[in-house]
Amino acid sequence: MSHSFLPVIAIHGGAGTLSRANISPEQELAYHAALQAVLHAGQAVLEQGGSAMEAVCVAVQGLEDCPLFNAGHGAVFTADGTHELDAAVMDGATLAAGAVAGVTRVRNPVLAARAVMQDGQHVLMIGDGAERLAGAAGLDLVEPGYFSTEARRAQLQAAQASAAGAVLDHDGAAALADRPLHEGRKMGTVGAVALDAQGHLAAATSTGGLTNKRPGRVGDTPLIGAGTYADDRTAAVSCTGHGESFIRVAAAHDLCARMAYGGLSLQAAAAAVVHGALPAIGGSGGLIAVDRYGNVCLPFNTEGMYRGVARVGQAPESFIYR
Ligand code: ASP
Repeated sequence: MSHSFLPVIAIHGGAGTLSRANISPEQELAYHAALQAVLHAGQAVLEQGGSAMEAVCVAVQGLEDCPLFNAGHGAVFTADGTHELDAAVMDGATLAAGAVAGVTRVRNPVLAARAVMQDGQHVLMIGDGAERLAGAAGLDLVEPGYFSTEARRAQLQAAQASAAGAVLDHDGAAALADRPLHEGRKMGTVGAVALDAQGHLAAATSTGGLTNKRPGRVGDTPLIGAGTYADDRTAAVSCTGHGESFIRVAAAHDLCARMAYGGLSLQAAAAAVVHGALPAIGGSGGLIAVDRYGNVCLPFNTEGMYRGVARVGQAPESFIYR
């Protein structure tokens, strides 16, 4: 059954602290160009009658493949100098969900999460078992070095130097100083939420996690209800920020619950989470959300968040700062 609301997709590429003083117009443009390309790709899926699930997977796959964002190629390093990637998808029509955590060889973790959902037996798979399922589903497996970039390695060195009380490594800082959001203090998950022409919602989120995290640490991203949630009766939500805080307040589900039980609008529910529940425990970050009427909300309590929105038939818009 079709409905009268314009299909829409929203995306994010992480929230964090600004480093506007260091940023050249070219670098800022590079981020906008990347966000716009991903919005166009997601919008095209919706325009052609594709599902919200297809649209969010295409968008997140594009963000994973782009080295500017902390997911897939360009993901951050753990304290051991490795990559452990997390991702999740959720279908608002059926509440079907799939997620992977701590994968090291799946080129596009979001597609592995979708494969877990499609397999249908489990919701969350970790490590080697998740990779075997992804391989059996025909997904690309890569050498771990595929995810590494020099900029991220420098970021790890800088984080380790400052954690050890040493002077911030100048090479490390310099390698990332030209990005619009301060990389040392930026959380860098990517995500997408969408409403399709059938009136269905979906959400997808993917991340390398936090720079210098302990190996084995899992954040909010692959936890259904924390970093990712979708329910056609309320909203689709994808979060970015300090994952431990988002887990503790069950952020994505909390937003939907405030709508379902409290009758709040999307905007009021999102504000209560991002400007209420999260800061109350020191949680910084933001989220993107869309409801079944196509209302979109992109709140954050940091200085900036890479983000954008595209409605079918309208020019995509991308934003970095407030
Ligand atoms: N939420 C992610 C995590 O804690 C990080 C991020 O959003 O950048 O793993």
